[in-house]
Amino acid sequence: DNMPEIKVTPLGAGQDVGRSCILVSIGGKNIMLDCGMHMGYNDDRRFPDFSYITQNGRLTEFLDCVIISHFHLDHCGALPFMSEMVGYDGPIYMTHPTKAICPILLEDFRKITVDKKGETNFFTSQMIKDCMKKVVPLNLHQTVQVDDELEIKAYYAGHVLGAAMVHIKVGSESVVYTGDYNMTPDRHLGAAWIDKCRPDLLISESTYATTIRDSKRCRERDFLKKVHESIERGGKVLIPVFALGRAQELCILLETFWERMNLKAPIYFSTGLTEKANHYYKLFITWTNQKIRKTFVQRNMFEFKHIKAFDRSYADNPGPMVVFATPGMLHAGQSLQIFKKWAGNEKNMVIMPGYCVQGTIGHKILNGQRKLEMEGRSTLDVKLQVEYMSFSAHADAKGIMQLIRMAEPRNMLLVHGEAVKMEFLKGKIEQEFSIDCHMPANGETVAVTTNPSVPVDISLNLLKREMALGGPLPDPKKPRTMHGTLIMKENSLKLVSSEQALKELGLNEHQLRFTCRVQLQDPHSDSDTLHRIYTHLKSVLKGYTIQHLPDGTVMVESIVIKVSSCAEDANTKVLLLSWSYQDEDLGSFLSTLLKKGLPSGLC
Ligand SMILES: [Zn+2]
Repeated sequence: DNMPEIKVTPLGAGQDVGRSCILVSIGGKNIMLDCGMHMGYNDDRRFPDFSYITQNGRLTEFLDCVIISHFHLDHCGALPFMSEMVGYDGPIYMTHPTKAICPILLEDFRKITVDKKGETNFFTSQMIKDCMKKVVPLNLHQTVQVDDELEIKAYYAGHVLGAAMVHIKVGSESVVYTGDYNMTPDRHLGAAWIDKCRPDLLISESTYATTIRDSKRCRERDFLKKVHESIERGGKVLIPVFALGRAQELCILLETFWERMNLKAPIYFSTGLTEKANHYYKLFITWTNQKIRKTFVQRNMFEFKHIKAFDRSYADNPGPMVVFATPGMLHAGQSLQIFKKWAGNEKNMVIMPGYCVQGTIGHKILNGQRKLEMEGRSTLDVKLQVEYMSFSAHADAKGIMQLIRMAEPRNMLLVHGEAVKMEFLKGKIEQEFSIDCHMPANGETVAVTTNPSVPVDISLNLLKREMALGGPLPDPKKPRTMHGTLIMKENSLKLVSSEQALKELGLNEHQLRFTCRVQLQDPHSDSDTLHRIYTHLKSVLKGYTIQHLPDGTVMVESIVIKVSSCAEDANTKVLLLSWSYQDEDLGSFLSTLLKKGLPSGLC
C-alpha cells in the first residue's frame, strides 16, 4: 500500500490544446510544467485555475519550481499573472532563447489585450519584467539541482527556437515532460532527441496523435504551387503565423522560390517582431540546424532579399502580394485585420500553416464556416480561398511512437491534444509497448505507482570473486544475478560473501544437508556393493574427487553414500545419500543415476 506515487493534474491541456499547465508531484516535490494561456477564450478560462493549488494566499509555499518548455503563449502566456498577480517567488526555469524571446511575446500579448481591446485587470509591463527576474536559465544536457533532492535536465525538442523537453528526477523516481516537440528536422531547426532514460512517466503532447504526415517535400511543393497560382491570377495571399518558428521556415522557402522563379510580386512580413526574431536566431545560432549553421558563415539565412517589412497601408495596394502576419490563429491583431479586408474577394487566399485552437477564427474557417460573426453584431462573408497546410512542428503519431522507443518510459500520459485523437493513440501505445497510457482531463488527477529502488553497496571481494568465475563482463544495461548475503547495518544495505557476513555478524555457519534413500537389487555383501558403487562412479564421473573411506562410506565431493541391507531381503540394498546445499545439483544427479542400478559387468 505504501508504494511511492507520481501524481499528475493538468490545469490546462488536459484533453485539450491550449493553456498548457500541468502539476506534477514526485517524491514530495511539486512542480508546475508550463503556465500557458488559451487562445480560444477571452474570459477567466483564458488562464489556468490556480485556485486548484490553493484557495487563498501565494503559490510559493506549494510549488518547488516552475518549468517553461518554450516561448509559445499557450505555454507561457499566464506566467506574469501567476507569479505577480496570484503570487509566486520561487524559481522559474527556461532555456536561454526562451528567456530572451518570452518577454517580447508577453508584452505583445499585453498590448493587444490592454491597449487595443481595453481590458483591465491584466498584467502590466512592469509585472512582465518582475516575473522575468525570477527566471533561472537552463543549458541543454546540464543537470540542474533545484534543491538537495530535485534535479532537472533539459533536452533539445526542435519545434521552435529554444524549445526543450525536461527530465525531472527525485531520488530514483523520474518524469519526462516533452512540451511541444518535433521528431523530424525542418529548414531551420533540428529534431528532438533524448537519452534512453527510462522514466517512470513520460508526459507527451499529442496534437497530431492520429496524423501521419506525408513528406515535408510534398507539403512544401504544394504550398509553393498554391501561393504561385494565387499570385498569377492577381490575388493576395495571407499567411497567419506566430512571430517565430514556422514564419522563418516559410520565409526561407518563399525567398528561395522567388529567387529561382524570378518573381516580382512583393512579400511582406507584418510586424517589427521579424527584426527582433532574426536577431535572436543569429544570437542563438547553435540552437538551429546544422545546414543553417554552415551556410551562416557565407550568408545569413535570416536576411531576406525579397521579403520586406509590412506597413498597414500596403493591404489596400492593388495587385498581388504575399503577407506574413501575426498571430497565427487569426484570433486578434494584424493578421485578423488583414483577413477582414481581404475575405470578400474570391481571388485572394489565406493559408493556415498550423494548428488552430477551438474558438479562434482560424479554427472556424478551417471547419468550413463561411459566415463569421464579428464584434458589434456584424457578419463577415468569407469568399477567399481557405487552405490548410500543416507546417507546425509537432510530432505526428509516428514521431510520438519514436520518442517512446527512445526514452523507454514505464508509463505514458498524453496532454495537449483532442480527446478523441488521444483515445486512438492511447490504444496504439498500450498495444505496442504494453505500458499504461493515461489521458486526464483538466482538474483530474492521475497517480502512477513507481517501483522504489534501494541502493545496495557490494563488497569488492564479492565483485572480484564474481569476475573470477568468468562469464561475460557485466553489462550495466542488463540485470545480472549475484549470490551473496544482504546485510542491513546502520540503515544501509550491503551485499557481501556469506563467509564475510558470518565474520561480521559473529555467527557460526549452519550446514543444511539433503538426504535421500535409494533401493537397489544387488546380490552381494554390503561392502562389495559399496565397492561396486565406487568403481561405477569412478568410471562415470570424470574430474570429481571420489573417495572410498575406511569407515564404510563413499564420498563424492560433499556427498556421502552408505549401504545397508534390507531386513527382509539381503539382496535388496538401501543406499543412504546425503549432500550439502552447495552440491544440490550433483546430489540429485547421483540419486537418479543410482536408481537405475549398477551395470552387471562390475567386479
Ligand atoms: Zn508550441
